[in-house]
Amino acid sequence: MSPSPLEALAGNTVGYNPDHLPVPLAQQLVRTAVTPITDTETLPLKQALGRILAAELVSPIAVPSHDNSAMDGYALRGSDLSASPVTLKVVGKAYAGHPYPNEVQPGECVRIMTGAVIPRGCDSVIPHELVVDATATAVTIPPGRIRAGDNRRLAGEDLPAGSMALPRGRVLTPSDLGLIASLGIGEVTVMRKLRVAFFSTGDELRSIGQPLDEGCVYDSNRYTLHGMLVRAGCEPIDMGVVRDDPASLEAALRDACRQADAIITTGGVSAGDADFTRELMARLGEVLFWKIAMRPGRPMAFGRIRDDGSEGKQVMLFGLPGNPVAVMASFYFFARDALAIMAGGTPHPLLTMRLPCAEAIRKKPGRTEYQRGIVDADAQGRPSVRLTGAQGSGVLSSMSAANCIVVLHHEQGNVASGEMVDVLLFDGLV
Ligand code: AMP
Ligand code: MG
Repeated sequence: MSPSPLEALAGNTVGYNPDHLPVPLAQQLVRTAVTPITDTETLPLKQALGRILAAELVSPIAVPSHDNSAMDGYALRGSDLSASPVTLKVVGKAYAGHPYPNEVQPGECVRIMTGAVIPRGCDSVIPHELVVDATATAVTIPPGRIRAGDNRRLAGEDLPAGSMALPRGRVLTPSDLGLIASLGIGEVTVMRKLRVAFFSTGDELRSIGQPLDEGCVYDSNRYTLHGMLVRAGCEPIDMGVVRDDPASLEAALRDACRQADAIITTGGVSAGDADFTRELMARLGEVLFWKIAMRPGRPMAFGRIRDDGSEGKQVMLFGLPGNPVAVMASFYFFARDALAIMAGGTPHPLLTMRLPCAEAIRKKPGRTEYQRGIVDADAQGRPSVRLTGAQGSGVLSSMSAANCIVVLHHEQGNVASGEMVDVLLFDGLV
């Protein structure tokens, strides 16, 4: 049998070993294998927060549209400034939205407020606190207080007309909404949300509201996944808990395939699990089973499932492990980027910072570890990171206690107390 396109892609990747796949290699394979959706929708500006811009946004106007004042003060002609004090006649006022209508002559100035259009003839503004002997009709300007051209915001200094205001693929932030509004644009065309169906697998899983039978656990993964998918800008489709049985699993996968652009499952992908999962996934599409050199989150399945009902439709599948923290790590470090690309966005490399580690960490070279950490600052404001304690892949409470992930890279060994480590903060300002 000839290899499937995914197998061929993987097989041609230097260093590919499905039983011990380094994280960067797996990330690269996932990124290469996914393709973006193309459907778009047009939304009122406020509703576009967090959505992906479908086309480059070009500024139809210059922002600001006129030279205007950066200060409250007096607009004047720079050529009137001198090495000795100059007294200028105040000939009028310019307020924001109320320009001074005439041309200002030599020896004259105009009382001006921030944002007001610079009157014709003027090219500079002196803040009011720098003038002396100000009356309603005259002000005196001591030498050396400003230079010609000071405190003037130039037309187009924010954005020249015809320039690119925002690139395609951009996830719109609060400042972007303001920027778009400053162009007078009230609607934007964004990518439709990526539909991601997900379900948990496991005979031991109970849903909220059900009695917790002996040996059972409540299904937490669907809630974590819901949260992560919403934060990632996707439309989550919760398909519930699926029993560890081939017929139920097949029905769930087929159903998910019809509804979604991507499917995320949790549980049942580790080597010890019933082989039917692998067999079934492989039968419904092309799926690679990986043991990734990472902790937590070693087993993962990645591939495509075919929708038999719809001509040629293929849906990406991420088969994540079952352990709750492993689900989060494999979502953040594999699915997140892939979903961003599929959604038509430009994935941003996650920004790590180097911080001193307040404790020693044991770490074997040859796998990437994601440890839950807490960054805080000492009395002098100097930040450092420590671990949350128990790092078991089932200990979800320590994920809630953490505010960052300490990334210990593939080749890295033990970390000494005080050594610098890479840290990924959970929250940013915007
Ligand atoms: P599995 O990958 O299916 O072998 O599951 C590994 C571990 O994660 C087992 O202890 C499961 O009980 C647990 N687990 C699997 N799925 C979930 C879930 N949806 N919610 C909470 N724990 C889970
Ligand atoms: Mg299981």
